[in-house]
Amino acid sequence: MEIGECKSRKSFWRGIVEEYREFLPVSNETPVVTLNEGNTPLIRAVNINKRGIDLELYFKFEGANPTGSFKDRGMTLALSKAIESGSKAVICASTGNTSASAAAYAARAGIKSVVLIPQGKIALGKLSQALVHGAHVIQIEGNFDDALNIVKELIERYPITLVNSINPFRLEGQKTASFEICDQLGFSPKYHALPVGNAGNITAYWKGYREYHRRGKAQKSSLPVMLGFQASGAAPIVKGHPIERPETIATAIRIGNPASWKGATDARDESGGRIEAVTDEEILKAYNLVASTEGIFCEPASAASLAGVMKLHKEGYFKSGDSVVCTLTGHGLKDPDIVFRVSKEPIKVKAEIGEVEKIIERII
Ligand SMILES: *Cc1c(COP(=O)(O)O)cnc(C)c1O
Repeated sequence: MEIGECKSRKSFWRGIVEEYREFLPVSNETPVVTLNEGNTPLIRAVNINKRGIDLELYFKFEGANPTGSFKDRGMTLALSKAIESGSKAVICASTGNTSASAAAYAARAGIKSVVLIPQGKIALGKLSQALVHGAHVIQIEGNFDDALNIVKELIERYPITLVNSINPFRLEGQKTASFEICDQLGFSPKYHALPVGNAGNITAYWKGYREYHRRGKAQKSSLPVMLGFQASGAAPIVKGHPIERPETIATAIRIGNPASWKGATDARDESGGRIEAVTDEEILKAYNLVASTEGIFCEPASAASLAGVMKLHKEGYFKSGDSVVCTLTGHGLKDPDIVFRVSKEPIKVKAEIGEVEKIIERII
């Protein structure tokens, strides 16, 4: 059979720009730069909720995007609009995933990418992605907030497009995750929980839910209550002031002065939700739990959403059976070193069946 006559062709996922074109700022002239991002699985929890967490709990696993994080949803649109406007290069500051995504989409578009990363704090998987996709990687002796300030000044001086989430096309693309959740569930959940770093994603999700409801795409349900979670060592919104030296194991949310601060507090206040802090310990516990009981490997920052839901559940915040979606923002393989903080090292034995049997007998 020729590809052209293949029946399954109709179900070919074309990426978020084509799939949700009517909701996005594109025209027929916009050249679409895509890696067919989006369409990520919404996975129902089957084991965590047997442990006294009586919720209808789902994970939107954004680690299944082409570069392993939700950043691809925003990057497809940011790069498409950059190419449309004639840009020859893109630049970003990044804790890792933005640079991985920008590098991949710039490679796809055939233009240059420059990424500024903070010193020493970037997960190896993310750095290797930026490098292999051909980005010009500049490591600065400072943190993410320092890197972003430099990048903001650079774009005033050079004809280069900024693709951090202050680029409005990023959030436009990211809002499509809400559309997918409504399409996948057939309604919108009562609660939506996600990690908060620069706060672009919570802003984008809230925008997405509102737009989908306005267009009558999630009719029978009301808008979700938005729950955002910061790491306690990097919780400027919770504390009410910027944090000079943010610290957390969850490097993707190690941000002291979020660019979309107001978007996040608006999402919280308009939806009647909350933005709270979770400790690194709570994050690692949730990270380990979702991997070891549900088979989903996310990165530490991602697990802040589940950690927060577990914390609120303990405080009696939810009603039994409430529907809750947790966004798991990125793939665990990006930062595999963290595994050794929660798991045991492999057991080493001689290459003899007897030796292995001794261990098997202990396990079974
Ligand atoms: C970027 C990122 C975040 C933080 O998202 P914001 O939009 O900056 O709040 C969380 N988790 C992962 C894996 C990320 O890459």
